[in-house]
Amino acid sequence: MKYISTRGEAAVLDFEGAMLSGLARDGGLYLPETFPQVTRDEQLALRGKPYADVAFAICSKFTAGSVPDADLRKMVDAAYATFHHPATTPLKQMAPNQYLLELFHGPTIAFKDVAMQLLARLMDWSLAKQKRRAVIVGATSGDTGGAAIDAFQHNQNASLFILHPHGKVSDVQRRQMTTVKSPAIHNIAIEGNFDDCQAIVKALFNDLKFRDEVGLAGVNSINWGRIMAQIVYYFYAALQLGAPDRAVSFTVPTGNFGNVFAGLAAKRMGLQIDRLVIATNSNDIMDRTLKTGSYTITGVHATQSPSMDIQVSSNFERLVYLANKGNASAVRAHMESLKQSGNFTLQADALNSIRNEFESGATSEAETATTIAKVLQETGELLDPHTAVGYAVASKTHTSSPMITLATAHPAKFPDAVEKACGIRPNLPQRLSHLMIAPESFTILSNSAAEVKAFILSDGKR
Ligand SMILES: *Cc1c(COP(=O)(O)O)cnc(C)c1O
Repeated sequence: MKYISTRGEAAVLDFEGAMLSGLARDGGLYLPETFPQVTRDEQLALRGKPYADVAFAICSKFTAGSVPDADLRKMVDAAYATFHHPATTPLKQMAPNQYLLELFHGPTIAFKDVAMQLLARLMDWSLAKQKRRAVIVGATSGDTGGAAIDAFQHNQNASLFILHPHGKVSDVQRRQMTTVKSPAIHNIAIEGNFDDCQAIVKALFNDLKFRDEVGLAGVNSINWGRIMAQIVYYFYAALQLGAPDRAVSFTVPTGNFGNVFAGLAAKRMGLQIDRLVIATNSNDIMDRTLKTGSYTITGVHATQSPSMDIQVSSNFERLVYLANKGNASAVRAHMESLKQSGNFTLQADALNSIRNEFESGATSEAETATTIAKVLQETGELLDPHTAVGYAVASKTHTSSPMITLATAHPAKFPDAVEKACGIRPNLPQRLSHLMIAPESFTILSNSAAEVKAFILSDGKR
């Protein structure tokens, strides 16, 4: 399987190359040259099978030619053995034709574990094979950092440097990162906000000399390895509700557009998806884009669902590329316009093709809170605020196919918002109770790419 850049000016790479580079050198994102197909017979054979079997069947199509199947199988099994539910990602019925797909039974109780646990193993395997080391840098507003640190703590060939805004993540989120003891893990608290952290990471990647010198790699949601791993649960859930004989619908709480793009990829691979619905909070750039055709950056505001508080949905570039039928120069023109003036406008054909595949809805803060209270009253289930955004949008979507809302975090990850909405403070699962007493370790650095660079070059010693 070959991977091409959405901007058309970077080398064509194999799976390992695309995974280890993260961002293409022309600034674009990697996509498989064609989407591999999962035939009707293959789908039938996967019905009722464990999650790891489905994951292996899907992922092996993308890793073909790079990762031997026996090695992939071991990594898939190890990745999903870290989940604390026999169904890995259980599907729960909430109402007639309404379902939740619980993606939060991994080590850090957010859906990012699903992809990160596999990606960490694939990266470590690939680096070992190539006998080289990598430095992985990432910025986090909360969930990504914890999931990456848990997943990479036992790796042998990469050092992980995670930047979080000092004093601006929740106690649980910070402790999930700073209590992990491993020589491979370095927590950096930046004296600044999340945008500052992201700007530093971008500056490091754009410094091509530094990038090559340390073997810089990224694990944020634009890494194709993460999208690949997220395609799996669309198939897994649909098979339980009758695929390939019946189409199902999905609603996806959306920020950086990685998760919902995986849904489109599943569809392109032959899964019958009726409606694919993008749900946003009041940071609604995706909802506005679908309604108006114009992708326009406005200010970010803080909500109860912070992992979706985003200005730029990076993975949308992949959809722009597909909607423009692989016209990389159109993508480059849009991205240049975005950089220059903070917006771009889709051409009519591209917008129509996007509207044919996706619907969207945005949820206000009040509606999110009401949804948490209402669902608790009706079903006894506590939703986290991200999932509640999705559930609210899903409930307003009229369809005769089963609607599956992706549940992206455990409610205990956002106890303040949940308690405020419904009066009940969700408890952390017992296995995480050590978090609040374990010793923490992190280094505070000023808001300076140069300082972070020096820290990385000294391998995390000051
Ligand atoms: C990251 C995250 C999202 C957004 O997912 P994207 O792939 O960035 O669209 C939604 N909910 C939670 C809890 C998350 O951590």
